[in-house]
Amino acid sequence: MPIESKDQNPMTPYQLPFPGEALDEIVIADAIPEDERLWVPQTDTVSFRPLCLNRSQGYWMNLLRVRQSGILSRHRHPQPVHGFVLKGSWHYLEHDWVAREGSYVFEAPGETHTLVVPDDVDEMITYFQVNGVMIYVDPYGSVQGYEDVFTKIDMCRKHYADVGLGEDYVDQFVR
Ligand code: FE
Repeated sequence: MPIESKDQNPMTPYQLPFPGEALDEIVIADAIPEDERLWVPQTDTVSFRPLCLNRSQGYWMNLLRVRQSGILSRHRHPQPVHGFVLKGSWHYLEHDWVAREGSYVFEAPGETHTLVVPDDVDEMITYFQVNGVMIYVDPYGSVQGYEDVFTKIDMCRKHYADVGLGEDYVDQFVR
């Protein structure tokens, strides 16, 4: 049974204030940026563009860009990852499928994989949500290093200071 409502006009905006503790939204008009400085380099061929660095829940949303048949080093995910391919294609050495432009990928907790962009792809861009931590490992699982939302924020601060945007530039992406 429908709730009785005084709402006569569906175009009336919500009339009350948002909760005082609520965080601001993030709106990025140029998510795939014109300004090359917004890409934070990880290696010679791999860089990322931060969108939401969520320190309060321990995840990050970013665009991963790989050029010139690059590789994202072997890593383990204790928590899930969601990806949507915006440009190019890639595959994992550990799986026989290929993620292409328009593909959605769910990486289940427990995955360990090595992301490879093939020779015939000039540029790959994928939107990834990464939860928790990426643990870099050798082929037998020995830990070589890690990344989490805090190392990502640190990388952004250093890079944005280096390119003249200022280390505070990253703050707009942090929640
Ligand atoms: Fe991964």
